[in-house]
Amino acid sequence: MLEDDKSIPVRVALRCRPLVTKEINEGCQTCLTFVPGDPQVIVGIEKAFTYDYVFDPTTEQEEVFNSAVSPLLCGLFKGYHATVLAYGQTGSGKTFSMGGTYTSAQENEPTVGVIPRVVRMIFQEREKHTDCEFSLAVSYLEIYNEDILDLLCPSVSKDKPSNINIREDPKEGIKIVGLTEREVFSANEMVGCLELGNSARTVGSTAMNAASSRSHAIFTITLEQSDNVVSKLHLVDLAGSERQKKTKAEGDRLKEGISINRGLLSLGNVISALGDENKKGTFVPYRDSKLTRLLQDSLGGNSHTLMIACVSPADSNIEETINTLRYADRAR
Ligand code: ADP
Ligand code: MG
Repeated sequence: MLEDDKSIPVRVALRCRPLVTKEINEGCQTCLTFVPGDPQVIVGIEKAFTYDYVFDPTTEQEEVFNSAVSPLLCGLFKGYHATVLAYGQTGSGKTFSMGGTYTSAQENEPTVGVIPRVVRMIFQEREKHTDCEFSLAVSYLEIYNEDILDLLCPSVSKDKPSNINIREDPKEGIKIVGLTEREVFSANEMVGCLELGNSARTVGSTAMNAASSRSHAIFTITLEQSDNVVSKLHLVDLAGSERQKKTKAEGDRLKEGISINRGLLSLGNVISALGDENKKGTFVPYRDSKLTRLLQDSLGGNSHTLMIACVSPADSNIEETINTLRYADRAR
């Protein structure tokens, strides 16, 4: 069980989606191969990468949840924080994997992603622990351009600067001041919050498609037990990892400029510092971005992290796929 294995703060799952219709129509070929029974992926003919878990294109949502995500939930009930991050280029399956398109009409579908499955399991667990009381609350936010937007607040807008701030409380850890936190009493109520936030995200993305692929969405479940033990689970759909070409206006100023999302850059640095034996006890650069500050008390330390690195199998995406395989490799 994961919670007994404190020496591994970060686990990495590689997930490859099937070719999508557009890729098939364009004549794309698959450039990744999988070794049955081995957590390995091979790019082209020779380069192999090994992860804690490798999910090939035939892997169902249920299996991803059961094998990689559910062990973190056991820890949550014992008071450990946990974080699940979906990483990868736009179109690689992050939102599909996390359940960021969930609507309740889908309830029993095999396509249901991580978040609604987590919600179901948390309420099932709660029924089992009749000896102590739990309270549950959720929040749902988006980080765009280092601004925090509240996805549970209907007036969410990408144009308005938010007055949400991150504070560090010596007792309670990271606190997000000004963010809606809703106490919930049932699984339905909790997935209702997910749906509400998902639709706020979607509305934003039609107006500003590129912007939504550059934002991180974080669904947070806070569990408070009767003995005042508080544990947090962050479920994160990260911004697309592809390098962003600067807009023309910016490009004029910064010739050939290519920007890399600041959150992803510092997340990579934080995670590799956490995983590196030689760097134990040294400085972990949490303060370099809103994303890592916000997740600070849930990455490393006594918490468990799972990164689901998502890739497309298509040869047309091979460059970004290799970037993702490398980023995920560095995280181990
Ligand atoms: P991202 O959030 O990384 O931009 P999406 O989750 O939106 O990517 O996925 C892109 C497309 O691929 C969507 O149409 C989605 O339904 C499909 N897709 C992603 N992963 C899978 C999968 N494992 N099985 C089937 N279809 C998938
Ligand atoms: Mg997405």
